[in-house]
Amino acid sequence: MKVLLVSSEVSPFAKTGGLADVTGALPKELEKLGIEVKIMMPDYRMINKDDFKIEKTGLDFNVPIGAEKKSGTLSKGKTGRKIDVFFIGNEEYFDRDFLYGDENGDYRDNLQRFTFFCRGVLEALKLIDWKPDIIHCHDWQTGLLPAYLKTIYQNEPFYQGISTIFTIHNLAYQGNFPHQLYHVTGLSWKEFALEKIEFFGNFSLIKAGIVYSDIITTVSETYSKEIQTKEFGCRFEGVLEWRAKDLYGIINGIDYTVWNPKTDPLIKMVYSLKTVKNKAINKEKLLKINELPIIKEERIPLIGMISRLDVQKGLGLIEECIEELMSFNLQLIILGTGEKKFQRILKSISEKYPEKIALNLKFDEALAHLIYAGADIFLMPSNYEPCGLGQMISMKYGTVPIVHKTGGLADTVKEFDLNDKSGNGFVFDVYQPGELVSAVERAVNLYKDKKTWRVLVSNCMKSDFSWKASAKKYTDLYKKLKT
Ligand code: ADP
Repeated sequence: MKVLLVSSEVSPFAKTGGLADVTGALPKELEKLGIEVKIMMPDYRMINKDDFKIEKTGLDFNVPIGAEKKSGTLSKGKTGRKIDVFFIGNEEYFDRDFLYGDENGDYRDNLQRFTFFCRGVLEALKLIDWKPDIIHCHDWQTGLLPAYLKTIYQNEPFYQGISTIFTIHNLAYQGNFPHQLYHVTGLSWKEFALEKIEFFGNFSLIKAGIVYSDIITTVSETYSKEIQTKEFGCRFEGVLEWRAKDLYGIINGIDYTVWNPKTDPLIKMVYSLKTVKNKAINKEKLLKINELPIIKEERIPLIGMISRLDVQKGLGLIEECIEELMSFNLQLIILGTGEKKFQRILKSISEKYPEKIALNLKFDEALAHLIYAGADIFLMPSNYEPCGLGQMISMKYGTVPIVHKTGGLADTVKEFDLNDKSGNGFVFDVYQPGELVSAVERAVNLYKDKKTWRVLVSNCMKSDFSWKASAKKYTDLYKKLKT
């Protein structure tokens, strides 16, 4: 079985969020299950060509973008032990500081950029003469690819018999564009139809992925049901319901070769469940670099938060109750990038409580590792959450999550039960500030009880979110398409 994974970001090459973690980890697990995998992604400026030993193949190609012809380059590197990664290059489109946009918003030519990427991938396959059984696409940036296979490329012998899977990582990011730009895609107007790519008078790349793929998946069971409702469907509930029999929810896993307190080179002191007291050394280092006081006489919980600063991630809720949270005896370290409004609010609150809150407004992989290891509690009060990786990573590091019961958070975190000592976190059902405050209060109170807290930490560290089971579910779907 040959599978091509196509994504706009793949860890460790380029990452803005969980998508890269998933597309970085899944291929390695698929390979273990005997699948021949290759990866294709855009050739961004931020990818360090020397570190990753990425080389130009010399195989160049052209693709039409509207009425123009754009030329592309193909470079090659490796990930894992022997998985080929191909980088689709075009200086005009990908030689930029960021992946999707800058402080002024999304890049204005994202349609052109990802049209180029999708067609470039199909051209590149022919150039390397490798025909996959399945192309596994991820998110709106790859939505046109299944559409091309079923239209422009359908009669070309090389592409016949290739099946497609489209995975939705977050339905809120849709790649919608005005109808005036439709010509850029090169698709015929026949495809601009209600049951195809048209979306409320314009067109949508995520819809293309949903409509033209053979199977659709999303990243948790609960989210796969939620997106068929008006509340979470982001106006796609109709089309998803229509495709419900081909829609599956498969929870993401965590790459424990990257996220593991026993081996993590980015933390101050490695530890396991047995040596979990070493967490304190990481905590001390974390407090120190964040210039927060280290108070040894009292047991004060340190809460960590690593997140896009976005309404989705519960920042609106935090805004409403941050003053109340500050009345508890706790410390809080936030690492995040995102909306200016939330940056401002967090800045002003951290200036008001400099002994309690430290704010890091940046993307910093190394600091993220240290927060997972050094914090006692991980805050993830997302409004909705397709899967969420932060809560699963934090548990591996014995850092207890506080979450809103939604999507993947609902599927992975269970409230700690004082009676039978089961559960691995603190969960609030209703998305309201009072509910979040009360969950934080439960956590802060339990933290005082060192012995019981240790049981909770142990429950977290024993929770298994490895990729094995989920990768197997993907291979079952691949096989289903081929039999
Ligand atoms: P998202 O919806 O943003 O993809 P996930 O929880 O699925 O959320 O994944 C987020 C991933 O990005 C995690 O690996 C998290 O540690 C990482 N991350 C988020 N923000 C930052 C940041 N500012 N610096 C470093 N890593 C970050």
